[in-house]
Amino acid sequence: MNETVPNTADVIVVGGGLVGMAVAYGLAKAGTNTLVLDQGDDAFRASRGNFGLVWVQGKGFDRLEYSRWTRSSARAWAGLAEGLRQETDVDVRLTQPGGFHMCFSDNELAERQARLAGMQAALGDYPFEMLDGADLKARLPGIGPKVVGASYTPMDGHVNPLKLLRALHAGARHHGATVVGRMPVTGIESAPGEFTVVTPERRFTAPRIVLAAGLGNRVLAEHVGLHAPVAPNRGQVLVSERVRPFLKYPTINVRQTDEGSVQFGDSMEEVGFNDLTTTDVLAKIAQRGVSTFPFLADVRMVRAWGALRVMSPDGYPIYQQSESHPGAFVVTCHSGVTLAAAHATRIAPWIRGGERPEELAVFAGERFLTGEVFSHAH
Ligand SMILES: Cc1cc2nc3c(=O)[nH]c(=O)nc-3n(C[C@H](O)[C@H](O)[C@H](O)COP(=O)(O)OP(=O)(O)OC[C@H]3O[C@@H](n4cnc5c(N)ncnc54)[C@H](O)[C@@H]3O)c2cc1C
Repeated sequence: MNETVPNTADVIVVGGGLVGMAVAYGLAKAGTNTLVLDQGDDAFRASRGNFGLVWVQGKGFDRLEYSRWTRSSARAWAGLAEGLRQETDVDVRLTQPGGFHMCFSDNELAERQARLAGMQAALGDYPFEMLDGADLKARLPGIGPKVVGASYTPMDGHVNPLKLLRALHAGARHHGATVVGRMPVTGIESAPGEFTVVTPERRFTAPRIVLAAGLGNRVLAEHVGLHAPVAPNRGQVLVSERVRPFLKYPTINVRQTDEGSVQFGDSMEEVGFNDLTTTDVLAKIAQRGVSTFPFLADVRMVRAWGALRVMSPDGYPIYQQSESHPGAFVVTCHSGVTLAAAHATRIAPWIRGGERPEELAVFAGERFLTGEVFSHAH
């Protein structure tokens, strides 16, 4: 490792995925001396295998704080993308034209309408439209006959998630953060006002630490009196060759990337720490994509992968400062693309000593100990 890497910082962020880097970027941009320690290429990394949606609609229907939090991030996203573009020259290719959630039966469509109407009644400003098959065909001419309708909201968008990860790394460094790879954190020692982060090679100290280690948070949190019982949830994704532009909107299962390829997503599977692909699941994903846009049946698939989501027992995030070890924070969620802007602009000021964002009071990890678990995250 480069000997010039300092042993101390104002804040040490453990984890260099989308969550850790969004927080680190926000911290460094605000002038905090920030050190990021990231495990290495053998780690499970959701940030390198996701679907790229900046998605709002339907999220948090039984936990409205999560809807508000998600919406606040979507609103801050344009500023994040523009800042990163100016500072790093990386265009993360954000577009927020609104998104479609396709329904394949009348029942599904009715349930969708009920959910979004309920959210609109509770939240007020929550625009959405329900479209029947004919309406939808007028908006998306390539749609297939198996789609009976869809919900549309203007709140949704998508980005190129790999460009986002690259931009956050470059942006954090641009503002003076140090990011060190191949540096697995194996322990955390605490003394009043100071944490010592232990790795096989070196020890680092800081008055504040942020645990943003994805699936690694489960073990690390215990060192500082936090509870983060996250577990893997596998998603498989398929990508096609590049095709002519046909879809300028993201949809929940199919999107055309900024480079022209078509991404088909994504399964939700409880298979432990197994991030391989399986043909049966990929076949279902492809089938759903073709049912949505039949012309895709003739498009060649070029790549498929599996990646592990970082999932809490109720699917909602865990954001908390330790009561027993003040200055230690855990930050983890399963929608790190969507929430990147909130993490950079609202979590980072909290870590710096500001007020905790008001929506986050309900997302402490203790809820899993006291049984106040919410039922659904989506
Ligand atoms: C198939 C799929 C589709 C998805 N689609 C979307 C989507 O459309 N929109 C959306 O918003 N989100 C989506 N997500 C979720 C999103 O990818 C994740 O929320 C996000 O990537 C999580 O980022 P993270 O930094 O917490 O975790 P990770 O990317 O897993 O990063 C954790 C980092 O911590 C490091 N680490 C772990 N342990 C240690 C340790 N002990 N010491 C040091 N470093 C450590 C690892 O090296 C790793 O780099 C999707 C995820 C999947 C799998």
